[in-house]
Amino acid sequence: MSYNNKIGWRFDNTYSKLPSSMLAKLSPTPVKAPELVILNHSLSKVLGLDFSSVSDKNLASIFSGNLLPEGSDTIAQAYAGHQFGHFTMLGDGRAIIIGEHLSKNNKRFDIQFKGSGKTPYSRNADGRAALGPMLREYIISEAMHGLKIPTTRSLAVVKTGENVIRETPLHGAILTRVAESHIRVGTFQYAVIAEDKKNLKTLFDYTINRHYPHIKDSKTQAIDLLKIVIQKQVKLVVDWMRVGFIHGVMNTDNMAISGETIDYGPCAFMDIYDPETVFSSIDQNGRYAFFNQPGITKWNLARFAECLVPLINEDKNTAIKIATEVVNNFSEIYKKNWFEMMRKKLGLSGEKIKDEQLIMDLLTWMHKNKADYTNTFCFLMNQNLEKNKIYNDKSFLDWKKQWKERLKINNNSPEESLKLMHSNNPFVIPRNHKVEEALEAANNDNLNPLENLIRILENPYEDKKKINEYQSPAPPSDKIYKTFCGT
Ligand code: AMP
Ligand code: MG
Repeated sequence: MSYNNKIGWRFDNTYSKLPSSMLAKLSPTPVKAPELVILNHSLSKVLGLDFSSVSDKNLASIFSGNLLPEGSDTIAQAYAGHQFGHFTMLGDGRAIIIGEHLSKNNKRFDIQFKGSGKTPYSRNADGRAALGPMLREYIISEAMHGLKIPTTRSLAVVKTGENVIRETPLHGAILTRVAESHIRVGTFQYAVIAEDKKNLKTLFDYTINRHYPHIKDSKTQAIDLLKIVIQKQVKLVVDWMRVGFIHGVMNTDNMAISGETIDYGPCAFMDIYDPETVFSSIDQNGRYAFFNQPGITKWNLARFAECLVPLINEDKNTAIKIATEVVNNFSEIYKKNWFEMMRKKLGLSGEKIKDEQLIMDLLTWMHKNKADYTNTFCFLMNQNLEKNKIYNDKSFLDWKKQWKERLKINNNSPEESLKLMHSNNPFVIPRNHKVEEALEAANNDNLNPLENLIRILENPYEDKKKINEYQSPAPPSDKIYKTFCGT
């Protein structure tokens, strides 16, 4: 039997049939001595794939791209994007999509190798990736999935047996990323400036067909698409704000039209609540700081709207006017969704005028008192955290009294209210020091901390025993946590 039949790959490649200027056809560059580091069994099941009869050696060959499955049609996608506000031509410089796999219920997924060698879009870089960042994407993307936040997922990581040269030589690695698609705002930006003016409409039709076929017959498709993408991105960024996630590099090429979180580079979760938190070493001006994320989402959506202008109305000025109005609704929609989310975090049901003040007062208190964002909500859910005396602070107790009063006028039971809190406040997040600990051990061939961390993050809303060590913020140190991009 061929590997395909045993494993269950069902490729049906459509993107590779788009105009040739939108992609490059090429194979992953073979690697010297691939070795499997981790394989995601639960994701395999979701995809309808079964790797149980494949030897470790063959798994390593498959997930390094040395042994391509039948039916694959390997491409690198072209795209452009605003990086930190500056427009640049980009494209998959170190990634190859091997094809679109259909799961048993015919859901379509891009299967992409990240770190698989140079492409025509590599510019001066090596097309490769290091083990640490690929495992980091694995951990955080799977944690996001556990948190029930839309995200690309990670199927496997292999070491390549080759070094990549960064500041020092590092283990080379390849991540297999699974996504609803890799169509980005930047893909539209690329199509708009293409020599062939038909490319934009082709990409637009393709996107609607693939993601939002229910608007296929609409007479206002372009504005419908814009509204859908706005809704999706509002929901996404509200989810990020809910759990304290900082993406770190919200360039337009890293915003997916599907509404999934994509491209885990310098991202990290905030411990102490500080709206100005920035982890990325290259984000000198805090463009992508925690509290800037909604504003940047809107900015990116405005860039998307600009791409759609020729499809909104024949008259450019009319089109711009319509698009501007729609994008300007973002702030109100965001605000409404954000307050709704914060109410849920506090177990409040129904809307009361004073809720906004109650929410803002808590955040102000957390900021002033350097309270841990995640653990403060765990504390309010009565979780027995190791004694933390900041919660005896008078101003916090005063706030808590008001909150308790507000809970009394909920239009649901205390049990329902607690349940609401439990489904919106995680007990565990990927704490930076635990992520670093797992990566360092994995770099030295000890996979236990990595596997334990991933297991804990699978069900972050469950109040499990023995999770204390995953709940504490990093021990105090002089060093500010920094993350690095594109490594
Ligand atoms: P990112 O910051 O990961 O979104 O990447 C931005 C752009 O740089 C994308 O076009 C990537 O494909 C490209 N890129 C990042 N790292 C590398 C690398 N090591 N080799 C080639 N291209 C890269
Ligand atoms: Mg990117």
